[in-house]
Parts: sequence; C-alpha cells; structure tokens
Amino acid sequence: MLPSRSDSQQRSLENPDKQTMRVDSTKRTDKLIEVPRKKLNMRLYTESEQKIQDYVNSKIVTISIIGLVGAYAILIFIIVALEELLDETEFNNVSSILSWIELGILIVFILEIFVGLYAWGIKKYYKDKWLILDTLIILLSLFFVIFELADQKTSNVIKVIQAVFRFLRIFLLIRKAQTFRRLATISTISTPAEKIVRFLAELKEVLEDENMKLDIDYCIDKIGNNQLYQMGKLDEDNAEAMAWLNQSQQGKTEVKRILTNEQQQQQQQQQKKVIANFQKLNIPKRLLDILFKQHDDLYIDPFECDKLCGGEGLVNLMLFFFENYNLFDVFLIKPKVVRGYFEEVMKGYLDNPYHNKVHAQDVAQTCNFLLSKCKFIEIGQLDEQDIACVLIAGAIHDYGHPGLTNAFLINSRNELALTYNDQSVLEMFHPSQCFKIAWGNQKVNIFENLQFHKYRRIRESIILMVLSTDMAHHASELAVTNSRIAAPDFEPNGKDKQRLMDLIVHSSDVSNPTKSYEIYKQWTEKVLTEFWQQGDKERDLGLPISYLCNRYTTNMAEAQVGFIDYVVKPTFACVLGFLPAYEPFFQNLDKNKAKWQELIEYYKQQLASIQPK
Ligand SMILES: [Zn+2]
Repeated sequence: MLPSRSDSQQRSLENPDKQTMRVDSTKRTDKLIEVPRKKLNMRLYTESEQKIQDYVNSKIVTISIIGLVGAYAILIFIIVALEELLDETEFNNVSSILSWIELGILIVFILEIFVGLYAWGIKKYYKDKWLILDTLIILLSLFFVIFELADQKTSNVIKVIQAVFRFLRIFLLIRKAQTFRRLATISTISTPAEKIVRFLAELKEVLEDENMKLDIDYCIDKIGNNQLYQMGKLDEDNAEAMAWLNQSQQGKTEVKRILTNEQQQQQQQQQKKVIANFQKLNIPKRLLDILFKQHDDLYIDPFECDKLCGGEGLVNLMLFFFENYNLFDVFLIKPKVVRGYFEEVMKGYLDNPYHNKVHAQDVAQTCNFLLSKCKFIEIGQLDEQDIACVLIAGAIHDYGHPGLTNAFLINSRNELALTYNDQSVLEMFHPSQCFKIAWGNQKVNIFENLQFHKYRRIRESIILMVLSTDMAHHASELAVTNSRIAAPDFEPNGKDKQRLMDLIVHSSDVSNPTKSYEIYKQWTEKVLTEFWQQGDKERDLGLPISYLCNRYTTNMAEAQVGFIDYVVKPTFACVLGFLPAYEPFFQNLDKNKAKWQELIEYYKQQLASIQPK
C-alpha cells in the first residue's frame, strides 16, 4: 500500500508516547510541538508566571534594580565613612536614618527574590547556587538592620558580626553588579527570535536524547545567525556570482547593509570558509564556476555541465546542493557517503537516448530553479528536509529507466509490470530501487543517521514526488491542484505543500519546452529517438505502436506543438498560480511553440521521403 499522509498523521495522533506541549502558552494555541513526554522533565510555566518572567527580565525592572544596587553601594560607603569620621554619639544620631533607608532597600531585594521564586519555581531560581548565599546575606542583613533599629545599644559581639556582614554586603553588591551583564543580554532579548532561542536553550538542558540536543543546537545556530531563510552560500573570487546569489537569496528590495571593516573581514573569512567547503567536495573547478553563477538558472546547459565533469554531472550537482543547503548537517552524513550514493544512482541510469543520467541531472537542476529562483522555498516555507526531498526526488525519479514506457512494459508482460501490478510501474520501480541502494550498502546510505520519524517523512515525500511523474495521473492531479490553488483555504506552506512539491518535480520533468530552444531541441530529438526505438520493438513484437512512437508517422514539430498546448502549458500555468516569480519564463513556451509551428511543413516533407515500403 502507498504511504498516505493522513495515515501517518493519524498514527502520530494515536501514539500514546507522544504528548503535545504548548510552546507559547500566551497566544499561539494553533502551533504545537510534539515532544516525547518521557524524555521531557521540565516545568511548564503558566501564563501568569511567563508574564512575570518577562516583566522581571524587562529593561525597566533591570535598570531599576541596578539603580538600587548603586544606591545601596553609596549607602554602605557612607555608613563605613561616617563610622570612621564621627564619634559614637554623632554616628548613632544619623545611623537610624541610614538604617531605615537600608531597610527599604533590603525589603525591595527580598521582594525581588519572592517574585523570582514565584515566576521560576524554587528549583530553577536557585539553579545558580550563589543566589542561595545572596538570599542568606540579605535575610541576615535585614535581621541586623531591624535589630539596630529596635535597640541601638548593641554589644561588642554583635558589632563584630555586623562588621562581617557589612563585608558580606559588599560581596552581595559585586554579585548584584553582574546584573549589568544581564542588561546587555536583555537589550537583545526583546525579539521573538531571542525568546525562542532562550526557550530552546532551556529545552536542551532537560533533554536526554543527544540527537535532539544536536537538532536544538542547529536551530539555535540558525536563529541566532539569522539564517532561517538563507539557502545558498557565497563565492569569494567571483564577485559577479556573489552579487547574483545575494540578490536571488535576499530579494531585490533589501537595503544594502553598510559593513564596518571588522564585519567585512569577518564576512571575507566566512566566504573563504564557504569556498573551501565546496572545494573539499572535489567538484571540478570549471563546474563549480558555472554552478556559482547558474546553480538555479533555467538556462544552464545540462550537457555542458555533465561533460565538464567527465560524465558525472549528476553526482557533482547533488554534492553542490548538499553543501549549498547544509544538507550534510540535516542528514548527519559525510560528503563521501553522499558522493557514493549518487555514484550508485548515476550508475543505475541506463545509457538511453533520453531517460539517462543527464535527464536526471537536468530535472534536479530545474527543481532547484523552481525552489530557489522562483521562490518556492519561501512560498512553501520549505525546511531543509523538504528541499532535500525535492532535489533527491528529481535526481532519482527515472533511476533504472529501461527506455520504454509503462504501456510497453504492461503490453509486453514485462517483469516490472507484473511486480507492480501494472500500476505506475516505472514510478514505483525508480524510488524502490533507490531506497534499496541506500539500505543495501551502509557505505552509501545517506538515510542511515536520520531519526526514524525524519526518515519516514523524507521517504514518504520522495516516493510521492516520484509517483507524481506518472503521466497517467497528469490531467487529474493537475485539475485537483488547480482547484486547491483557487480554494480559499489554500495553504502552500501547510496542507497543500506536498501536493505543490509533487508538482515541482512533475513540472521539472516536462520542462524542456520552457528552456532555450537550443537545449529544448536537443532533448526533443533524444526523446523521439527513444520513443521510435520503442515503436520499432512494438512493430517487431506485433504490439500496438504507442502514441508518438511510430517513426514513420510522428511529425516531430507537430508533436511538440501538441505537447506544449496540452501538457506543458497547463502544467506551468498551474505553477504560475502559486509561483508568480515564474512569470518572465512562461512566455518561452509560446516562443518555442512558434518555432516548431514553422517547422511542421518541413517535417511533413521529411516523413513523406522516409515512408516504409
Ligand atoms: Zn523524467
């Protein structure tokens, strides 16, 4: 049975091990995070506790406390100084006033402790053990001040103890002065991002699972470095590429930041690191130069890219994407495993005229164009796992393709058709084989280090996308997607995301007519060569010759006009419905169609001259 999204969602709802925890109990009741309760042993704060925490951490309260600490320091200085300067009678006259002031300050400190205890709970509040000493000093100081005020005739012993406590109060002041440091932190804890980072840091402290801790570190790093929506990395020795990547990733409207020298140096060092990371992957330099400029360009030449790396374009492109989107970290995997995996995938592509490794590379690259340049990553709010799924689906979607259609395999009672019961035969076969490659050889298993739930999600998503490339479901799926896009509750970043990801891969698979005519023409010749080879086989076997597969009757130009009108144009019109950035490229279809229309007559004459006897 095929994996279904609703099935898996249902299962996770029924799982008794999982409990749902509110992240922000104040407002966002709709956003839930699932955390296994048995792993989580942390106190969840009520709304009022959180409000008080925010208030205590607020700038105004912190500044007030710092002011009070300063006043207390001056007061103690005055007390010590007056004790030295005045005789006992004079000192006793003023000391009661000073003691009342000190009493007031100490009461505020006590109140601060009580509020903290209420807001965080005793365990969390006294996590910093020095705070216990602070509390003791404050309480004893309070005791001595009250004692002084009640009976000013103190014994010598009490006086000595008082002196000791005056010293300890200086220690308290030093501790309190550390609040200054907290102010520096608080001045940046004013954004929701900082609150999330704080929450994640607290969550990490109470978790036992090392993988989850790593995930949290990763989240904190991304939020802290403002990289939530950053997809790519920059090339340092190619200023043009850098500017171009910057533009495509950050949007044209962003105001250019003026960097200080120090920031510029940091940025340069960062860029050097980035380049070094790409170079470590052993991607041929000439291909790297092209990818830095054109990695998400619709007009990149897949044949040239493949040639530049000795026929290993697919492997090198996928390594580039893994580095570019930080997917090595997402899969917790080393580059050599990824290289090994895609080498196996690449080897599995047969040397067909059309359905070969270059087509796979081209589809993965076109997927990236729709993700990145047409901004599906932003519109669908894709996380790195989603990005990985789309690119991997593009790369594997025709693995092991025999150069024959499903219809041929079914009609010829091929073993694959028998295995998959005539249902999306090849589209079932491709991902099945690619998951077997991974699980059949630990050295190339890119999925091995994924947590089980992540692996399930990735596997399900990849399979759905490859299944979507079956042309048998093209019209019906497109109709549903169009109706979803028009629906008032359309959610490209929510419940409709997988459907749109499916369309990204399917549309990339039929995207040749959207490319430059030179590239498109090469693909057309290749695909018809493959179709015609199948037609020859069908003729030999006495099977019905499939549509477009008869080399004696198929007019290449006419076929392409029909393909554009009935398949590609409706598909990309649907893409345009949720990716408005695709608009400038949509007109390519009409331009290319016009070129083929001019050639219809020419191909008619060609066909007339090669009619079989
Ligand atoms: Zn394909």
